[in-house]
Amino acid sequence: MRKKIVAGNWKMNNDSQQTQALLSDILNKRPQDTATKIVVAPTFVNLQSAVIQTKGSNVIVAAQNMHQAESGAFTGEISVGMLKGIDVNTVILGHSERRAYFGETNSILAEKVNTALKHNLTIIFCFGEELADRQSGNHFNVVESQLREGLFHIGESQWTNVVLAYEPVWAIGTGETASPEQAQEMHNFIRTLIKENVSADVSEHTSILYGGSVKPDNAQEIFSKPDVDGGLIGGAALKADDFLAIVNAI
Ligand code: 13P
Repeated sequence: MRKKIVAGNWKMNNDSQQTQALLSDILNKRPQDTATKIVVAPTFVNLQSAVIQTKGSNVIVAAQNMHQAESGAFTGEISVGMLKGIDVNTVILGHSERRAYFGETNSILAEKVNTALKHNLTIIFCFGEELADRQSGNHFNVVESQLREGLFHIGESQWTNVVLAYEPVWAIGTGETASPEQAQEMHNFIRTLIKENVSADVSEHTSILYGGSVKPDNAQEIFSKPDVDGGLIGGAALKADDFLAIVNAI
């Protein structure tokens, strides 16, 4: 059985009061006996308060990014040790906004992956094609290179700390989702790649999330596909009721 996961990527939203208010709404209304992992990713400055607020609950706090170096002269950056020091043990890496606006290449991401795994963090590794790639039929190649160049170098035993998130860029924040069939087709392609390049066991046990305009009214159909193990949610994660409706859709 693979873990089911619903993660909210809050991006650059919510100041400290708003973070506290949204979290307390989520904590009050969340299903407590669910086997689904519930993850929230506030901004760096609100991580520590979120960790304190969620202590003892089934809500996991993740960072949205981290630097690949362990320390040093990298003004404005956050290291793996700083995350671990406040009990943040999960990090999102390779989000398409990091790739597009902050120059994160597959090779930088490979370094971030190494640093995170060296310190035993769980990573939510994001990837996905742009619209032009989908239109030209190049989407499988793009996804394959992102995985090969950013992730597939890790050892088999390290995959227990890896969650994948397929987020087609054309579906992020656009209101246009991949159809459940498109999501399933890509997730199945990814699972087969893992089987061929890592092992059948890892392929069977790695959770693959879908992200891109998941909402309460489309979540159930997407999550019903056999290779979709949950979602990485942007806009709809900013309201507790919407986010939890998506959690409950699994
Ligand atoms: P939206 O759900 O707003 O499309 O964002 C998806 C996303 O980028 C999650 O990381």
